[in-house]
Amino acid sequence: MGGPAAPDDSWMGSLSVPYNVGPGFMGNYSTRKIRMHVHTYNKITRIYNVIGILRGTVEPDRYIILGGHRDSWVFGGIDPTTGTAVLQEVARSFGKLKMEGWRPRRTIIFASWDAEEFGLLGSTEWAEENVKVLQERAVAYINSDSSIEGNYTLRADCTPLLYQLVYNLTKEISSPDEGYESKSLYESWLEKDLSFWYLFFAAHRINKLGSGSDFEAYFQRLGIASGRVRYTKNRVTDKYSNYPVYHTVYETFELVEKFYDPTFRKQLAVAQLRGSLVYELADSHVIPFNCQDYGEALRKYAKRIYNLAKKHEEQMETYEVSFEPLFSAVKNFTEAAADFHRRLEQVDLKNPLAVRSMNDQLMFVERAFIDPLGLPGRTFYRHVIFAPSSHNKYVGESFPGIYDALFDIGNKVDLQKTWENVKRQISIAAFTVQAAAGTLKEVA
Ligand SMILES: [Zn+2]
Repeated sequence: MGGPAAPDDSWMGSLSVPYNVGPGFMGNYSTRKIRMHVHTYNKITRIYNVIGILRGTVEPDRYIILGGHRDSWVFGGIDPTTGTAVLQEVARSFGKLKMEGWRPRRTIIFASWDAEEFGLLGSTEWAEENVKVLQERAVAYINSDSSIEGNYTLRADCTPLLYQLVYNLTKEISSPDEGYESKSLYESWLEKDLSFWYLFFAAHRINKLGSGSDFEAYFQRLGIASGRVRYTKNRVTDKYSNYPVYHTVYETFELVEKFYDPTFRKQLAVAQLRGSLVYELADSHVIPFNCQDYGEALRKYAKRIYNLAKKHEEQMETYEVSFEPLFSAVKNFTEAAADFHRRLEQVDLKNPLAVRSMNDQLMFVERAFIDPLGLPGRTFYRHVIFAPSSHNKYVGESFPGIYDALFDIGNKVDLQKTWENVKRQISIAAFTVQAAAGTLKEVA
């Protein structure tokens, strides 16, 4: 937290062995063996998901889901309570609107998941139980886990379909940051996160979805457009993947109130963003998805994976590996997306069937990236464009099938077999992107 309480290198607690703050060990202690006694329970117990439904007026069979977990490892002062509070506040706000006689165009489902910490159990069970209905009717899933993991600026991870909506909505929300009182969340976010992205990626400041929270079954398995937003640390100066007290006994309400968000304005801004995402997705006449951003993301990911493969250029020639089919499919998707949005601008908004037809195309774009056979060795994950990284479940990887196949190259394996596998994964990716482009074409 950078305050006077932060220990320096010479800090030493009161245990009777020498130790330091880290990172790493000092002296010969790196070889010391430790015996730990862990006392824990192994029992079968009941878990509870709490589901609330606000029925839509015009399209009750189209669902927007706002879900977050309620269980915690210890006190859960940050994870999940800063997110549970947001879920409750958003539900309360929609309840207030309903009392005044309002209902959304589409149905909103509020879900308070249990047993997330034990392996995303509640959310996954519910996704499995309702799989057929969700495949046919779910438009979007917004996650409401911890709304802060730092107090510096906004962090958004979502499908490219939602980039524009996130940008537009952050322009309407006041920045909660000290010294940015007259600015929008969009402006303070851009200013604070710009250097990070400019230095390392020079691209969108929105991240790929990985896993580690309840959106996993909805996005990575079912292909429902998903997103998550929260307040985060300064990612240039702080490279640790999680906040220092993550999942410990020190995650308390006092920690949030005294250090992370004393004015609660950061949690308010996140609540406003999550709530308005749900509102726009549920109530806009035309679903606010942008397919052209998906095309641009695909182009970027395809180029990245190609550059990774090109490190073995000679082998690529020997084994006749080409990325051309993938580049060609991405180009076709980009053109189909541009065409689709041109037609969408001209759709007769007074013709409910025409609007519904195009809204269905929008809803099913994400679904089109699902391969029913799943990814090699981890068939629960079925999204061909995104998956949790095989090396860090919290982080997202693009074209994961190709990436993982390429990863084996350096391991001195059977090269012929490995490159055949890379070629197979390129084919799967190219086929899937091409098939997704087909779903955006004029229907007849
Ligand atoms: Zn959590």
